[in-house]
Amino acid sequence: MNSQLGQRNTATDRFVQSAAAAWVLVIHGGAPRVAIAYSVEERFRRHLAIAEALRIGGEVLASGGRSLDVVQAAVRVLEDAPEFNAGCGAALTCEGHAELDASIMDGANRRVGAVAAVRRIKNPVDLARAVMERSAHVFLVGTGAEQFAVEQGIPLIDPGYFITERQVRQRLGVIESASSGGTSAHEMGGTVGAVALDIRGSLAAATSTGGIPNKRFGRVGDSPVIGAGTYAENDVCAVSATGWGEYFIRNAVAYDMCARIKYLNESLDSAASHVIEQVSRMGGYGGLIAVDRYGRIAMPYSTPTMAHGYMVEGGPAVVLVGNP
Ligand code: ASP
Repeated sequence: MNSQLGQRNTATDRFVQSAAAAWVLVIHGGAPRVAIAYSVEERFRRHLAIAEALRIGGEVLASGGRSLDVVQAAVRVLEDAPEFNAGCGAALTCEGHAELDASIMDGANRRVGAVAAVRRIKNPVDLARAVMERSAHVFLVGTGAEQFAVEQGIPLIDPGYFITERQVRQRLGVIESASSGGTSAHEMGGTVGAVALDIRGSLAAATSTGGIPNKRFGRVGDSPVIGAGTYAENDVCAVSATGWGEYFIRNAVAYDMCARIKYLNESLDSAASHVIEQVSRMGGYGGLIAVDRYGRIAMPYSTPTMAHGYMVEGGPAVVLVGNP
């Protein structure tokens, strides 16, 4: 189990923040089951994208902006970066399409918005926010979500925009490996998410993904499921998860983590480690990022690495894109 929160202690691989922070932004870029050998250039581009998301989000938080706007903006930057499995660069279904899932939650009032299996929305996190604020519902899927987007002035784009060479190779690799009895369907990672605390003490979380490579079309993972891949509640914590979504749904990971803090009085760190251990015990894998109202951060993962970055008021942007 890897867990990192503030100042690094090599014995436990933990980071402990000494004082309450006025604002905090934490971002993840996925936790693949196996270490992926990125080229130096790919690592650099992944690093730059997370750094850019932190820069944009940090500026908004420093000038008194809302955590809800910040998590949306940070996720949008990573949806636009083809190095991640969200928006452009999303994993492909067994039929070769990108089907995108996203969600957002405002911890101040527990308002939520989510979309799943959309094929023509450039930034699914923006549509999730529109569902939250401009519809009578909390979760829209497929063509129904896309029709709602058009009504809201969010354009539909050519599905070819999402398809990258890397994901085409990944999909073909998955098929080869599956036919030879291997299981590389979950090796990609690259889901993106953000959690933030603003100076008013409000928490928010957002997550966006193309899901797992070679998934059945119509398959929905944990990322758009509130309480599984995303959750935020002021006075408790904000969570965004990544990993094998079926296990995160079965364990209601994001909500279970909040419930442990609320009802069992567990610390953020222990609740985070507990839910990731539970996923591992059942045969799943993954990680999460979380922040509480004091600005404490938890980032446990059961995988070799989890790409992530964070920025705390008064400190530098820290980015770790993981394995070489
Ligand atoms: N959790 C995502 C899903 O199952 C995939 C990932 O985070 O890598 O759709």
